[in-house]
Amino acid sequence: MIKFDNVSKIYPSGNIAVNSLSLEIEKGEFFVIIGPSGCGKTTTLKMINRLINLSDGTIYINEKKISEYNIPELRWGIGYVLQQIALFPHMTIEENIAIVPELKEWDKRKIKDRVTELLKSVGLEPDKYRHRKPNELSGGEQQRIGVIRALAADPGILLMDEPFSALDPISRKKLQQDIVKLQKKIKKTIVFVTHDMQEALALGDRICVMKDGKIVQCDTPKNILKYPKNNFVKNFFESGNVYKTSIFNEAYQVRDILDAGFCDLYKTDDGTLSINDTESIENLLKRLVNEKSVPVNHLDKSIGTITNENMIKFISRRLEKCGELS
Ligand code: ADP
Ligand code: MG
Repeated sequence: MIKFDNVSKIYPSGNIAVNSLSLEIEKGEFFVIIGPSGCGKTTTLKMINRLINLSDGTIYINEKKISEYNIPELRWGIGYVLQQIALFPHMTIEENIAIVPELKEWDKRKIKDRVTELLKSVGLEPDKYRHRKPNELSGGEQQRIGVIRALAADPGILLMDEPFSALDPISRKKLQQDIVKLQKKIKKTIVFVTHDMQEALALGDRICVMKDGKIVQCDTPKNILKYPKNNFVKNFFESGNVYKTSIFNEAYQVRDILDAGFCDLYKTDDGTLSINDTESIENLLKRLVNEKSVPVNHLDKSIGTITNENMIKFISRRLEKCGELS
């Protein structure tokens, strides 16, 4: 659907923002690009809709070079959502959402129905919201409008550049859940940029980890967790990103890892300080930062050890489950 063939971007300053990027995003895929600030995520995204010109290489959309599309044709097929979405303050929510359908000269009835449908799809009551102005909405609500505005004319592709990063954690989580639900229904090809690993894991069918304009690893969340390609990817997790995921906000205990079968069940008496199975996983994780494995006690008896590898397996299992439940 979207194919990058050896794409580079060198800014006039000589800065190589994107360096020989090759990748293929499939139709209907939720593709997440992640990496530290300045690694080239935004540049990569903006090259897709030609907001930034390529210095080298080729991008194809549906097997046609993007340079061969005329720009309006290209951009109408691609919705774009930014971190700080710019809703027009003097226009109502309905008018804001209707911008592209108006440009495309849809008839009034069709536009009104589309606005109704879209507001409903993100849980906003159409009659309550359609005539409001943007400043009468919360940050989270405005961001929802940004998302549905990008979807208004039914583009095949949706580009999202850190769309939820300005939101408080609760609205952010809500919007993440909404977008997952929405995607199940609409099956767009979504390219989603974030620097938050938890968000990437929660949303992506695949995650592309970037560093210095290059791809470090591109794989499913499960494989990235299980087989981080190198220390950069590994550290990205260990810097606290993953350990702060919802999995660990929900008071899980060491017991849960045992119950899931991720514990090496044999007795240890090597003198390392053990942990009780009723303690929080958060405490276990703190130990696993410095130790390869931690002995576990049940009712004061040592019953085995949990290793870092056990932990990673547990995390990926939980994430799979989260995906099933949503
Ligand atoms: P990210 O979105 O991952 O934070 P960007 O794609 O915005 O990264 O930027 C990648 C690199 O290119 C950075 O080093 C940035 O400073 C540089 N850069 C971005 N935009 C420009 C520009 N217009 N002119 C020159 N350098 C730029
Ligand atoms: Mg950026």
